[in-house]
Amino acid sequence: MSQATEDLAQGVAAGERRALSRAITLVESARADHRAEAVALLDALKPGGRQALRIGLSGTPGVGKSTFIEAFGMFLIERGLRVAVLAVDPSSARSGGSILGDKTRMETLSRNPNAFIRPSPARTHLGGVARRTREAVALCEAAGFDVVLIETVGVGQSETMVAEMSDVFVLLLAPAGGDELQGVKRGIMEMADIILVNKADGDLKQTATRTCSDYTGALRLLRKRPQDPEGYPKAMTVSAVTRDGLPEAWQALETLTEWRRDSGHWDRARAEQARHWFMEDLRAGLLARLDSDPDIRERITRLGEEVADGRKAPTVAADEVLAALGKSTVLEQD
Ligand code: GDP
Repeated sequence: MSQATEDLAQGVAAGERRALSRAITLVESARADHRAEAVALLDALKPGGRQALRIGLSGTPGVGKSTFIEAFGMFLIERGLRVAVLAVDPSSARSGGSILGDKTRMETLSRNPNAFIRPSPARTHLGGVARRTREAVALCEAAGFDVVLIETVGVGQSETMVAEMSDVFVLLLAPAGGDELQGVKRGIMEMADIILVNKADGDLKQTATRTCSDYTGALRLLRKRPQDPEGYPKAMTVSAVTRDGLPEAWQALETLTEWRRDSGHWDRARAEQARHWFMEDLRAGLLARLDSDPDIRERITRLGEEVADGRKAPTVAADEVLAALGKSTVLEQD
């Protein structure tokens, strides 16, 4: 490890936000030499030390995610906690533009020394975003943040990914008529530990309360999960503007995480997640190596066409590539 990376590791471990920011830039880099330093950095900041509460937060644009994170983040900081916010924005993976990257979001929070906010990197494919976000979470944890909020926009794939790196998953919804309840995909409902119906204030309060009881009913119909204590998953109302319901939401999160810690579900979930990401990294790394050999890459492209044309069965084509690997040095790179 270079001296610079060693210094960076020390800065991160000391909780310095500038060092954390540079460390995340390093793990986001696609350059091979940066990658090597990033791996050394993550190794130096070994996991198994401090654990933050990782909260996945999802909601479609307009439900009030930024307003909520600003209010909830400040609420937590007022209770003496340090809060990191990471955004996962699948739109930036496609277009390079970011819904969540807007610099004017969360102004009060971003100026607070006990907060750290990082928008989604532009122009990275979703797999790359997954790894980068997971590594950024680990870095925030190593930097001593108590709560890491991982925010994403309501698009199926990114939600699953965020849930796979979170301890609890919160779904933020807006007040709506009964029909719109159907608009939330069942899969996303099933991921939620807590549903927060936001904007429960002023004229919207009544609708929010009704929406909340609709979701309470809908949640009761879901299959009971082993990782849930009595009464979970649950739906509650909040207002990011008036801050009503924030203490209750935090209490509900604390009750849930305490129960999961005591019952062993917390450790089991973290262990499973670590194993999952290890396999994902291995898979991605192997594919990258295959891609780095021009002969194999050419063969894969050609076989892909033959498979698409129906000239060859997928199984046979895959087998051919695997057989060719035996004769290649691609797996012997260091
Ligand atoms: P995001 O796209 O999910 O990040 O949503 P924003 O935080 O940008 O909020 C979208 C709109 O909803 C803005 O006009 C906010 O002022 C408004 N909003 C957010 N939270 C609340 C709330 O608790 N009550 C009310 N009445 N409006 C809210």
